[in-house]
Amino acid sequence: MKTITTHFINGKFVESKGKEILDLINPSNKKIIGQVTLGNEEDARDAIRAAKEAFKAYAKSTLAERIHYLQQLHDAIAARADEHIAIRAKEYGGVYLHSQASVSGAAKVFLNMKKSLSEVPFHKKLGQAEVMLKPVGVAGLITPWNAAIFMICNKVAPALAAGCTVVIKPSELSALQTQLLLECFDAAGLPPGIINAVNGRGDVVGNELTTHPDIAKVSFTGSTAVGKSVMRNAAETVKRVTLELGGKSAHILLDDADLEKAIPFALTAGFMNNGQACIAGTRVLVPEHRLADVKAAFRKAVPNLKVGNPTDEDTVVGPLVNEKQYNRVQSYIRKGIEEGAEILIGGEGHPEGLEAGYFVKPTIFVNVTNDMKIAREEIFGPVLAVITYKNEEEAIRIANDSVYGLQGWISTTDPERGKEVADRIEAGIVMVNQLYDLYNDAGVPAGGYKQSGIGREFGVYGIEEYLQTQAIFEK
Ligand code: NDP
Repeated sequence: MKTITTHFINGKFVESKGKEILDLINPSNKKIIGQVTLGNEEDARDAIRAAKEAFKAYAKSTLAERIHYLQQLHDAIAARADEHIAIRAKEYGGVYLHSQASVSGAAKVFLNMKKSLSEVPFHKKLGQAEVMLKPVGVAGLITPWNAAIFMICNKVAPALAAGCTVVIKPSELSALQTQLLLECFDAAGLPPGIINAVNGRGDVVGNELTTHPDIAKVSFTGSTAVGKSVMRNAAETVKRVTLELGGKSAHILLDDADLEKAIPFALTAGFMNNGQACIAGTRVLVPEHRLADVKAAFRKAVPNLKVGNPTDEDTVVGPLVNEKQYNRVQSYIRKGIEEGAEILIGGEGHPEGLEAGYFVKPTIFVNVTNDMKIAREEIFGPVLAVITYKNEEEAIRIANDSVYGLQGWISTTDPERGKEVADRIEAGIVMVNQLYDLYNDAGVPAGGYKQSGIGREFGVYGIEEYLQTQAIFEK
């Protein structure tokens, strides 16, 4: 059992001033695996002070220095990749397949930023002015528990590339993963105060970051409900905000889709990270006349997905993160039944033999209409809602009939047609027939339309979120 009593402030692990202790529980067996002491407002203020002091010098650092630090951070995380993968399985049930990609992505994002940095137009002559891009100041980074270390790195890397210093408020449900990451940050040997982190509750430490006048920018990933309150709080001191929020993405199976490929793709898109992924394709839109074939294909494919121990390399669906999440998913399954949807596969309760942990049955609903709660609200578990449509127009209308707009998914044998449909989907990213590797170095932006967020992450787009312009006219 690991006990974490410190925060990372000004280059040191310092004892928490907050006293509340939280048990950390392995969701595969409900055993206590650690404890974390939660910070209070004073801890947060100490971290903000350190970041503000460090900003004075770091804002003036050269690109060569930042590139050196980004490389150091990459190396430090990559050196402990196996430990990161293991702790993810233990702390939130992250399955090996997903964790491997996510951990290597977390390290790689620092390398990618080195490349993106060379593409940022830091100086530009416009008319009589010189327009410069300058770091906004201290950034408060607030992250969720799913794929925690990737979420943190995907904010730290662009912030540091831009010349900002940071205070991280991770989810307390990811304290062990974060502690390991902080040890890597420490080993990377950056000057003190550039990276700081405080464990704590959202309404305590998170609240301090979103209201403190010395935080210039908040980058938040989490639920839409909390994102709205972050934005409200940030408004008081006119902070810049980036919000990466929830989703209820549609996966349109066009009428020409090859079900041999489309159904496995729908399961990958829907069940990734045990269904706890903001981008999951959870509404599966199916042509009415192909419903019988789609049902048969799901019936055949789902029982072959291994549900269970997340450390087994062939496990596809591990447990949900905690009891609250387990109960939430169960309640949505009940709501779906009450609203008249029909369970094709899965349903309430644990899969047989997995009663000891927060495992749920991968569940597929049919006879779903887009006005049902299971089609409108983010469930955050392995539950898919199959909705039928009569023609392409109706499929696009249903896909866009959502307050969210994070991601779209399309299956078709005609990529040109897929692209035309994608063009009409209101979402920040649309994947046609493929699961694009977001961790590559192309710097493709990700982020939401509508209530799925504001701003973009990855590449130059991600760095720009931490920069502001200054135009100097001289004669
Ligand atoms: P939450 O919104 O509950 O929490 C996210 C973070 O915000 C946590 O660190 C939380 O702390 C903190 N927080 C809570 N209340 C406040 C507050 N008042 N002020 C400041 N910070 C606060 O999300 P979850 O952690 O449950 O993560 C799941 C959600 O994240 C899903 O909706 C998912 O779609 C979304 N998400 C979006 C992604 C995207 O890129 N668009 C990617 C991944 C997830 P605490 O832990 O103490 O509550």
